[in-house]
Amino acid sequence: MSAIKTYFYNIYHSLLTVIVGMRITIKHIFTRSATIQYPTVKMKIPERGRNRLFVNIDDCIGCDQCAIACPVDCITIETIKSTPDMDLGITSKKTKKRLYIPCFDIDIAKCCYCGLCVWPCPTECIVMTDVYEFAEYDRQNLIYSFSNMTTEEITAAQDRLEKYNEEQAAKKAAATVAVKESPASSTSASPVTPPPIKPAPPTVEPNQG
Ligand code: SF4
Ligand code: SF4
Repeated sequence: MSAIKTYFYNIYHSLLTVIVGMRITIKHIFTRSATIQYPTVKMKIPERGRNRLFVNIDDCIGCDQCAIACPVDCITIETIKSTPDMDLGITSKKTKKRLYIPCFDIDIAKCCYCGLCVWPCPTECIVMTDVYEFAEYDRQNLIYSFSNMTTEEITAAQDRLEKYNEEQAAKKAAATVAVKESPASSTSASPVTPPPIKPAPPTVEPNQG
């Protein structure tokens, strides 16, 4: 091939390459993409997806069912009994609340997202959310605390229960003493008098005659 022919062939080939490349590019502009621009765009999470847990503590009755069901023991619940003079209200499912919950922690770093804690909850207050971005540099930040009690409220609840228990113990002791000292009790407690023993009939000596 002469030099002039090679020159024009190279020009033709370059233009053809650009046109083919641009045709593919333009075709993809109108093709639906298979990827998304994460994190600007996020995928829709399936309805039953298992992600970060959340506890609506206002609906929790402290029954411990979720913690018992957890296979890796990553739920820690502490409760304090309420005294009869305190009304803790009811849950949205109309269950009466009888326990304070000073501690409800979930160590999400240990969680295996099995969902076993969600199903036994009688008030449906522990749920899987659609939050899946919760990476942390410090592991301690992966322990989520859901209790909303302040230190003062916890101390007050403990003191009230302690006082109530003392009062109940004192009442019980007083009642026991009263029962012991009551006349009926003393009658029943007096020794039982045995019935008189009849004298034995005289023995008749046989005649030695
Ligand atoms: S999802 Fe499973 S591992 Fe995680 S807290 Fe609930 S029961 Fe425990
Ligand atoms: S099962 Fe539900 S109500 Fe019971 S302690 Fe767990 S979150 Fe609270």
